[in-house]
Amino acid sequence: MLKVENLHVSVENKEILRGIDLEVNPGEFHVIMGPNGSGKSTLALTVAGHPKYRVTGGKIIFEGKDITELGPDERAKKGILLAFQVPPEVEGVKIIEFLQQVLVELKGMDSAEAYDLVVEKAKELWFKEEDLHRYVNVGFSGGERKRLELLQALLIEPKLLILDEPDSGVDVDSLSIISRKIEELHQRGTAILLITHYGRILGHLDREKLRVHVMKDGRIVRTGSGELADQIDREGFAKIFEEVGA
Ligand code: ADP
Ligand code: MG
Ligand code: MG
Repeated sequence: MLKVENLHVSVENKEILRGIDLEVNPGEFHVIMGPNGSGKSTLALTVAGHPKYRVTGGKIIFEGKDITELGPDERAKKGILLAFQVPPEVEGVKIIEFLQQVLVELKGMDSAEAYDLVVEKAKELWFKEEDLHRYVNVGFSGGERKRLELLQALLIEPKLLILDEPDSGVDVDSLSIISRKIEELHQRGTAILLITHYGRILGHLDREKLRVHVMKDGRIVRTGSGELADQIDREGFAKIFEEVGA
């Protein structure tokens, strides 16, 4: 479904990604791990089509079509959704209006139908109806922001959901609901590309079915099953990098 081929990406003339190859098929669950600054967010943002990230080599294929030059909205229409590491505040735009708009545009729902669905799904992520009349992320805690990203994902049910550190800056209760909702989306057929520092968010997911990729300095230096995530949790990255000579 997603095929990233020998991807090179520069930001402000600095090469950040230096030849990434990655293939995600329907229903698969991939995990990207790696120390700070290894290029994980750059990969996520580039696949989602963020204009700041310039592809200088290689390509991104989605369902057989080259999407390397497509804008973020067109990629969203094709079924790619990115949940941001730091979800931005949008002053003046209410959550309910934003999510209704998304459902109208991406799912062709009418606005009343969209309203009811948003309110219903919001409850599953601990948002009350009145919370939905606040502006998007304005004054939100880390956990609330990440839960709102997940709410968007649950509503859209994208083909491919990229989650950039959904576990960072959240309390344990939010972590457990977020982790359950990711698993639920996966079970309903969404392919997942999850960026994380910690194996903890993987919860009870079957380690055999996970594909874990470890990044360093803009490259994937090792790929393995979910056991690799647990090994990183126990031993850190240094040992892995030593083993692969990276
Ligand atoms: P990670 O998500 O793995 O922590 P990032 O992709 O955020 O890594 O960053 C990789 C490298 O690219 C870092 O050295 C970072 O400073 C740089 N970088 C990322 N985005 C930008 C940007 N918008 N402007 C300048 N440098 C950037
Ligand atoms: Mg980081
Ligand atoms: Mg990052």
